[in-house]
Amino acid sequence: MRKYVIMGVQGSGKGTQSAMLAADLDLVHISVGDIFRWHVKHHTKLGAQVRRLVAAGELVGDDLVADVVKDRLELHDWNYGFIVDGFPRNRRQAEFFLESYDLDGVIHLDLPDDEVRRRVLARRLCARCGMDYNLIAHRPEEEGRCDVCGGELVTRADDTPDALARRLADYHDKTGPVLELFRRKEYVLTIDARADKLAVQRTIRVRFNLPPYQG
Ligand code: AMP
Repeated sequence: MRKYVIMGVQGSGKGTQSAMLAADLDLVHISVGDIFRWHVKHHTKLGAQVRRLVAAGELVGDDLVADVVKDRLELHDWNYGFIVDGFPRNRRQAEFFLESYDLDGVIHLDLPDDEVRRRVLARRLCARCGMDYNLIAHRPEEEGRCDVCGGELVTRADDTPDALARRLADYHDKTGPVLELFRRKEYVLTIDARADKLAVQRTIRVRFNLPPYQG
C-alpha cells in the first residue's frame, strides 16, 4: 500500500504528476479541487456551497473539506494506495489528516512564483472531458478545441491574475506551515518542478524508490 500527499502551488504540475503516478502504480488520485469542480458543474448542493469560493480562488472551510476527503477515502477503492492532491492546505487540515491516516510520503513540487504565473495564465481545460492544456507547453491541435473529444477549451474560473495572486498569497501563508509540520515527521521530499513533466516524474520515482514510469 502506498499513501502519498502531493503538495505544490497551483501550476506546479500536481495533477499531471499525480495522474502519471496513479496510472501504472494503480493508485487512486484524489483531487479535492476536481471533486469541488465536479459538484459545481453538476449543480449539487455541495456545488452551491463552494461555487463562489472556488471561482474566487478562496479556500473552502476546513470542516467541509475534511468531510469531503473523509467521505472519498471511506469508499476504500484504493487497494494499492492513494495520492491526495490539494489537501491539506493549512495546519488544521494537516492535523486532521495526520490523526486519521498514516502516510508514506509527501511529494513537494517546488516552483518559483514567476513560473507559476507564466504557466497558470496559459492553462486551458476542456469543458467536456476535463483534459488539461497549456498554450505554452501543450497546445491543442485546433485552437480552442480539445484533441480528445472536440469539446470547447475554457479558462478555469480561478486562473485569472487576481485569483492567482490570492492563491499564491494563501499558499505561502498557510501551506508553508503544513510543509513544516510534515517535515518534522520526515515525510517530505522536495522536487524541482521546473523541468518537463517526464523528467519531474523520473525524479519523483527515484527519490521515493518507486519503479520506473511505464507511460
Ligand atoms: P485546486 O484545483 O487544488 O487548485 O482547488 C481549486 C479550489 O478548490 C481552491 O481554490 C479552493 O477554493 C478549493 N479547495 C481545494 N482544496 C482545498 C482545501 N484543501 N482547502 C480549502 N479549499 C480547497
